Amino acid sequence: MINSSVYKNILDNVFEGVYFVDKKRKILYWNKGAERITGYLAKDVTNSFCFDNILNHVDVSGNELCLNGCPLHATIEDKKIRKAFVYLSHKNGHRVPVTIQTIPIEENNKIIGAVEVFRDESKKDSTIVKDMEVLRELSLYDQLTNLPNRRYTNNFLRSRKNEQLLLNIPIGILFIDIDNFKDINDLYGHDVGDEVLEMIAKVFTNTVRSTDLIGRFGGEEFIGVFCGVKQDILNIIAEKIRMLVEKSYILKDNKRISITISIGATMIKKNDTVKDALKRADKLLLTSKKSGKNRITTG
Ligand code: GH3
Ligand code: MG
Ligand code: MG
Repeated sequence: MINSSVYKNILDNVFEGVYFVDKKRKILYWNKGAERITGYLAKDVTNSFCFDNILNHVDVSGNELCLNGCPLHATIEDKKIRKAFVYLSHKNGHRVPVTIQTIPIEENNKIIGAVEVFRDESKKDSTIVKDMEVLRELSLYDQLTNLPNRRYTNNFLRSRKNEQLLLNIPIGILFIDIDNFKDINDLYGHDVGDEVLEMIAKVFTNTVRSTDLIGRFGGEEFIGVFCGVKQDILNIIAEKIRMLVEKSYILKDNKRISITISIGATMIKKNDTVKDALKRADKLLLTSKKSGKNRITTG
């Protein structure tokens, strides 16, 4: 028989996050992978309950699973293995995409709890991260947020537009602007404003796929470029980004500071120049601002 410290050692060395809850969903074990992915140490979370909403899982539609639809709870109830794609809340506040698997644990045919195994799905093959080193050397990335800067975003847009002329690939763009950002600076100071920008950039980086890009276009303005997506998918992406930003925050003196964004979403049309499309997206963004902020306008 292998003793339990050997098992613990094995689990601590797997790449995935692993935690174990008893039947009442009290967290009894939390491995090193879970610490790395979530920012929470084992001592922060063991003996609390998963429904205390520490990780605050949300699905792609923004539903809060810990309160309603917890996969661990369902697995304990029906002993079935479940898989899901969710966004957990990192200790620092930003959202991290993970695939989770919940597995029932039985002893003598009786359920004693469940294990959740989760894998970090962020940054895997994003263009932003892959190209970061190259951008760094060419001064095409933004120093504060580590996002591609305006020059790079413009070049990216232009080459995607050229591809579109040849191959007819649909391209969706999002013009994104933080709501009431001046208030953050005024209330908490410029440094906190900068931290909010860094946090939001993390949310963006964690959300984009390999063919897409979100760049910092100006102070608190960002442009998202999504290739091969039609208007309906672009709207879904925009809504997902809006929701994930709304559900993220930074911590200052134990207080959560969160922000929202407004978005203008449009497709680059065949006869558009990049400038035309950006202008239209900017106008749509203005409509989002005028109609109450924290929303998307498409056109
Ligand atoms: P709205 O909802 O209409 O967009 O309101 P807003 O306050 O976000 O818009 P406004 O354009 O009035 O203010 C933008 C603010 O963003 C003002 C500027 O000080 C701040 N800002 C721009 N770049 C940075 C930056 O790099 N760091 C910080 N901390 N603030 C910045
Ligand atoms: Mg602005
Ligand atoms: Mg703004």
